[in-house]
Amino acid sequence: MNQNLTKKILYALLFGVITGLILNFVPENVFGGIDSYVLSPVGEIFLNLITMLVVPIVFISISLGTASLKDPVQLGRIGGKTISFYLITTTIALVIGLSLAFVIQPGAEGAFDTQNQEYNAEEAPPIMDTLLNVIPDNPVNAMAEANMLQIIAVAIFFGIALAKLGDKTEGLHKLLEQANEVMMFLVNVVMYTAPYGAFALIASSVGAAGVDGLQQMLMYMVTITLGLVLHAAITYGIAIKAIGKASPVQFFRNFFPAMAVAFSTSSSSGTLPVSMRTAQEKLGISKPVSSFVQPLGATINMDGTAIMQAVATVFIAQVYGGDLAFSQLVMVVLTATLASIGTAGVPGVGLIMLAMVLQQVGLPVEGIAIVLGVDRLLDMLRTSLNITGDAACAYIIDRSEQKKEKENDIESPESV
Ligand code: ASP
Repeated sequence: MNQNLTKKILYALLFGVITGLILNFVPENVFGGIDSYVLSPVGEIFLNLITMLVVPIVFISISLGTASLKDPVQLGRIGGKTISFYLITTTIALVIGLSLAFVIQPGAEGAFDTQNQEYNAEEAPPIMDTLLNVIPDNPVNAMAEANMLQIIAVAIFFGIALAKLGDKTEGLHKLLEQANEVMMFLVNVVMYTAPYGAFALIASSVGAAGVDGLQQMLMYMVTITLGLVLHAAITYGIAIKAIGKASPVQFFRNFFPAMAVAFSTSSSSGTLPVSMRTAQEKLGISKPVSSFVQPLGATINMDGTAIMQAVATVFIAQVYGGDLAFSQLVMVVLTATLASIGTAGVPGVGLIMLAMVLQQVGLPVEGIAIVLGVDRLLDMLRTSLNITGDAACAYIIDRSEQKKEKENDIESPESV
């Protein structure tokens, strides 16, 4: 992606926020008109353009990635490292969120209305069902429903078969490679519309947020934002520096275009085409690792969402005048980690997971209504962190795989 486009996206973010803030001061019907006839349609077209590429890209790139791995052991090793990284960083994210909420106490002061709140919690799929259904009974259905875990499973089987059949499936392999080229070309084309799409989506959600509501929720928003920044700087920063042996600043700078798209779309899954391409082209992550680790992360790894859930749980407990016992905190960590596994990264899904967490620790689910008004804005921020976590994981695993390969080459020089 050229420097020019990155700059344009950055300006689009800034202008989007400024326009949204100004729109807060125009009469509601005028905002409604601008939103429904200009901002929402432009935003929707952009969203559809990138979302349209998600399913084919995930299927094609994971099949090709699996087919190109040298042996099944490597697939198992990458899988093991990926899942460990995701579980560890999500736990750290939850601890950061809980600690900040206890120190800052965002819900301790302020007049929050706890009487007239209503929230109908949407049913989250039971975790056991999600795990059992990882292998779909109908792969076409899995694709039609964009069920990421199922698509990943089908693609891995397909890739293993391609690898095993070797020359016999050379044509099919070539076809997939060419299809991949087409997809990447389309991501490039779609990215040229990103500044306009990002502007429209951001102006629309900041405009709808209502500045009055923001004031009362300021401390809650500050706590979450601080948590997101700390997690990116400390957890990912240290991991990139210590394990990836690279500069975290450079990493964040190179990955910025994908973070900006995640910010405007609030969807990790929707941003996948852009985040994979940015990771491969700008961070130099190899295709097999990127195409395995990032789609998996878009579904099972959501550190930003975990931080929001931790802060929101403590916040709601404080607003309702209760305290959380240590056992309840452990419950928050367990439920929030498990909840993230089954739910795909789409806008607002964090609140469905929050309902599960609140139910587990015995807090009123209606409390979600208090945080609902500002959630759209926070969703933008946490989605950026969610996809950054996936890319950081891919980066570190790619570096460690490269190191392993070099060591193997030194150990068996005859293979050179
Ligand atoms: N929108 C987030 C994502 O796509 C999930 C959430 O926190 O609601 O990663």
